[in-house]
Amino acid sequence: MPSVKLKKGREKSLNRKHPWIFSGAINAVKDISKNGETVEIISGDGKFLGYGSYSSHSQISVRVLSFKPEDIIDKKFIQQKVEDAVQFRKKIIDEDLINAYRVINAESDFLPGVIVDKYADFLVCQFLSAGACFWKNDILEILINIFNPAGIYERSDSEAINKEGLTQTKGLLFGKEPPDLIEVVENGIKFCVDVRIGHKTGFYLDQRDNRKLLQSFSYGKEILNCFSYTGGFSIYAFIAGANKITNVDSSPEALSLSEKNVLLNRIDSSKCENIQDDVFKYLRKLRDTNKQFDIIILDPPKFAESVSQIEKASRGYKDINLLALKLLRKDGVLFTFSCSGHIVPELFNKIIADATTDSGREVHILKYMTQSPDHTMLTSFPEGLYLKGLVCKVV
Ligand code: SAH
Repeated sequence: MPSVKLKKGREKSLNRKHPWIFSGAINAVKDISKNGETVEIISGDGKFLGYGSYSSHSQISVRVLSFKPEDIIDKKFIQQKVEDAVQFRKKIIDEDLINAYRVINAESDFLPGVIVDKYADFLVCQFLSAGACFWKNDILEILINIFNPAGIYERSDSEAINKEGLTQTKGLLFGKEPPDLIEVVENGIKFCVDVRIGHKTGFYLDQRDNRKLLQSFSYGKEILNCFSYTGGFSIYAFIAGANKITNVDSSPEALSLSEKNVLLNRIDSSKCENIQDDVFKYLRKLRDTNKQFDIIILDPPKFAESVSQIEKASRGYKDINLLALKLLRKDGVLFTFSCSGHIVPELFNKIIADATTDSGREVHILKYMTQSPDHTMLTSFPEGLYLKGLVCKVV
């Protein structure tokens, strides 16, 4: 079979079951005829290391599918991986309360580059690597058999795809076109999701548990939800009895969906204010008017897209966190997040500690947060942990 031989001594990360091989680690490739096809991975001294999907364009030349020599990488193998992923979600998702969740989480489900999210009767997929594209039709067939979905929509239009040498693709793959807005239920709360132009596949499913956690702090509170998108955190807080919420987002489309979500859940819209502004600027405006809040949520977009952006991103995180800490009433609560994979948890904690020092406030960490468990993580693949958050009490 086609194979990839590594340079001597470059098998260490594979021995730790890390699933990526960078182009610089490769000594020779043999008999590869198609982008994305399966190769045997062999160490510099000729030992079997695993099977993976080869990409001729990506810096990540091989993404590992299996470390077991006895595995045969065929449709049956892929079907098993999909079924394992689906079965695991059945165990952790209460489908009476939640009908929107991540079904397949790429590398962390041993299906590198494959993302599948379920929104009610529809599936939304991303095929983000050469290997994912190679198995695309088989994966679709398997998903149709398991879910019998009303439709499957593709959102392989993230920028990451360009680095893989693939073209951005978007559109219907199977069944009927999803409606303009799909209505989903999350912990019994309703949300409208636009799977065509919404961020990621339409909704931040990874924040589900953190939105739920916010509820226990929200009763009677005045809340500032920065980077509010379609109001996910706000709707949860309202349902739990929040008094007043201000959403801030730069996107008018997101804010208008947020209004729809308020109506959908029969919330008194006079308690909700939507501000279309840049959060960096708006927090400064609030500072200058001496406004204070009981709870502030900071859930910004990814500030660091690459290693070279870590320093600038850190300054951005510190800036908004410092401003937010100063805007909280005594015993106020900060929910602060970073979804940049390049900002590791230790660094994020340090940024918040630095912001604390400069703010002159006393900050107690009440909880560390991460992505919801349908966004699986592997101990051998730290890159899979991207969402970090802290709940802080500010004295
Ligand atoms: N907390 C949300 C997800 C936030 S996603 C949820 O649970 O659903 C990040 C949001 O930040 C996006 O809606 C994007 O439009 C917005 N955004 C990005 N940069 C911004 C800026 N500088 N000021 C205000 N909003 C911004």
